[in-house]
Amino acid sequence: MTKPLITKNLRSSPNVPKPASGRSKALENPSELDLIRTIRQKAASRDSGVRLGIGDDCAILRPRAGEEMVVTTDFSLEGVHFRRDWHSPESVGHRCLARGLSDLAAMGARPVAAFLSMSLPTKLAGANEGSWLARFLDGMMRLADTHSIPLAGGDTAQSPRMDGAGNPHTPSAAFDIVLIGAVKQGHAFLRSGARAGDVIYVTGSLGGSAAELLQLSKKPRSFSRFRNADENHPHLYPSPRVAVGLKLAASKHRVHSAIDLSDGLSTDLTHLCEESGLAAEIDASALPIHSLADLAEAQKLAPSALQLALNGGEDYELLFTAPKWTPIPRRIAGVGIHPIGQMTALRRGERPQIHLHQPDGHSDTIAPAGWEHFRRK
Ligand SMILES: [Mg+2]
Repeated sequence: MTKPLITKNLRSSPNVPKPASGRSKALENPSELDLIRTIRQKAASRDSGVRLGIGDDCAILRPRAGEEMVVTTDFSLEGVHFRRDWHSPESVGHRCLARGLSDLAAMGARPVAAFLSMSLPTKLAGANEGSWLARFLDGMMRLADTHSIPLAGGDTAQSPRMDGAGNPHTPSAAFDIVLIGAVKQGHAFLRSGARAGDVIYVTGSLGGSAAELLQLSKKPRSFSRFRNADENHPHLYPSPRVAVGLKLAASKHRVHSAIDLSDGLSTDLTHLCEESGLAAEIDASALPIHSLADLAEAQKLAPSALQLALNGGEDYELLFTAPKWTPIPRRIAGVGIHPIGQMTALRRGERPQIHLHQPDGHSDTIAPAGWEHFRRK
């Protein structure tokens, strides 16, 4: 059974009274209060639509008139989404929030509030500056500040030190983040909105995250010094395209559908094809391939840069579709926008799928092949 350190919305739990209560249990376990204080300090609100943040039974959000709320939730699990011997705590915190922000971007939503629940081994949960948790929060809050999203609540627990049968068990870190966003009523981009003839666009470049992960897996120690968000580290510090999503949503030019590229182009575009009941034609030579993917191919870390761009995953770029006649700029919010193909009606008996056209005129149907990074071996 896990021991709750902080109850809902990160207020002091009933068995951890406030220091004012004198000789209380809090004095026996001051680190719990320190931990709450550390989280509250680091989350100190940069207000947006949050009327009441950490400290009460619930947070209170204040939606604007004419808006709808969008909600996304993501796990970040040690050994599945990150490794403590590969990723710095700052990178884990950044990536944990980036995944949710990317989902908000895909809906064209404005970030409103984040809620973080965590289960941590005791040795990581120190309240002091420099502890694993403090550095995790630093990484997360730096990205949160960039996107003006406050941490408005959450929950913490100690990771279990035994399994359900009472056998000793190595505790690991787990995070669940919930992000709330807001979008003008009826204006959220959906996966199901694509139409035959739409041009398919992607932002930024593809394959960089998988390529950096390949490098990281070879020499994890040389990556531990990268503690700050940097565009040149697409795996450690991905840049969710929130500003692009907002500009597209605010523009009079119509975007029909969107999805973020978290699992890899081949998988995510297939999701969009399925939801819209269409097929997609992709021009291989039009794919914006990240320079790190080219480098991985040159170093023989991957069979080809194209494979990393198609299947790599975790690029957190946006894919969206818009009618041909819609003028889409080449750059939005400083990010390159690339047309890569078009949506087509399903031929008789055809399943929603992707056809990839090679420069030599050869065409292939490609299967969804995005991978889960830590499950490959
Ligand atoms: Mg998504």
